[in-house]
Amino acid sequence: MVFEGLAEKLQETFRKLKSKGRLTEADVDEAMKEVRRALLAADVNFQVVKSFVARVKERAVGQDVLSSLTPAQQVIKIVRDELAGLMGGTQSKLNLAPKPPTIVMMVGLHGAGKTTTAAKLANLMRKQGRRPMLVAGDVYRPAAIKQLQVLGEQLGIPVFSMGDRHTPVDIARAAVEHAVKQGRDLVIIDTAGRLEINEEMMAELETLKAAVRPHEILLVVDAMTGQVAVNIAETFNKRLGLDGVVLTKLDGDTRGGAALSIKAVTGCPIKFVGVGEKLDALEPFHPDRMADRILGMGDVLTLIEKAQANFDAEQVARLNKKIRSADFTLDDFLEQLQEVKKLGPIQQIISMIPGLGNMKKLKELGDIDDRELVYVEAIIKSMTPWERAHPHEINGSRRRRIARGSGTTVQKVNSVLKQFEQTRKMMRQLAEMGKGGKKGGKLP
Ligand code: GDP
Repeated sequence: MVFEGLAEKLQETFRKLKSKGRLTEADVDEAMKEVRRALLAADVNFQVVKSFVARVKERAVGQDVLSSLTPAQQVIKIVRDELAGLMGGTQSKLNLAPKPPTIVMMVGLHGAGKTTTAAKLANLMRKQGRRPMLVAGDVYRPAAIKQLQVLGEQLGIPVFSMGDRHTPVDIARAAVEHAVKQGRDLVIIDTAGRLEINEEMMAELETLKAAVRPHEILLVVDAMTGQVAVNIAETFNKRLGLDGVVLTKLDGDTRGGAALSIKAVTGCPIKFVGVGEKLDALEPFHPDRMADRILGMGDVLTLIEKAQANFDAEQVARLNKKIRSADFTLDDFLEQLQEVKKLGPIQQIISMIPGLGNMKKLKELGDIDDRELVYVEAIIKSMTPWERAHPHEINGSRRRRIARGSGTTVQKVNSVLKQFEQTRKMMRQLAEMGKGGKKGGKLP
């Protein structure tokens, strides 16, 4: 999970700070040293870390923070705001053309996820009511053209292609003309990348930019490459003038340094993040919400938006009622898990819940992953209806029978019952948060 290490360290630092009550300048200094180490360990650009820590320190000791009633909270708030600020403050949206179609040019190196992201973006924008068309402009790799066509077919989104015998400029021009005729209001052009940055690629992209005058040039970079991604962004930006960056593979085991450095180093905002291989795994990037997640304050807003996009209103209302009611049973639990699964991998979802984004607590919950659902389902289905409605009354001999019936072990049954209890609490917490429509959560 992205930022896992950073989140753990920062939260630990702030737990210590909060346990102190009154704070001295030396306490802040000590905390800032830890913040600095944590950011460097997360592979954040050295200069960025330096000025970040200096800014936080200045604000923390310069105002009436230390003499306030809740100094630690104030320091945390400053860090939260500065973290969000590093990443651009608020969400940066796609530039849309005043007169359609909007033309988006996707650029990036091989393997960054450019082609996949083009398709994901088309999918996301269609959900927002646009009529996208994809353009296969990577004339050097017939496989990339085929890949885009396959993705377009899966999504039911048209892909404009002229094979590999024409120049990208001719293809793009013809594509835009075609889009206008077809009433498409968004043209997403996949361009040719290279294994590494070279003059030929840059010159080609410049020519394409001059010919089609895109409203948006989006660079796709792989978050796993850390500071390399930042350097790539800087080079592309100097040459082409980027409008935004898409950071892919944020679902992987990345420390997050690129996410925290790109805007600060290049001035280009991250507009979207890729969080999986599936075609719906692209999210608009919200710096403020990301800062909340890093500090363990959860990201209820994203969770609610995901729920709204994936559930119908009736379902949401029914679930909400269930969550708040006292008679939340194991049947509901199973249904709930299946619903929640629609929102994405369970681990990602849990990280958005205030207080639970804290990785230590997450581990206490046991390793809930998507495979686990298969066991959970088998175990719950091996219970009698009475047992499902009375989980607290499931004693030892019943547990053994359920384990046998589901082909699992008593430990697994115990762990499902424990997860049920935890989930019940967690969902209540979530319902409470949603009710107030509060932004972000309470500090853990
Ligand atoms: P391109 O060479 O830049 O066009 O890269 P592709 O679009 O072919 O993607 C390269 C690989 O990265 C593919 O296997 C994609 O499924 C994968 N990929 C792209 N974005 C993401 C992401 O956000 N998360 C994960 N886990 N994989 C991704």
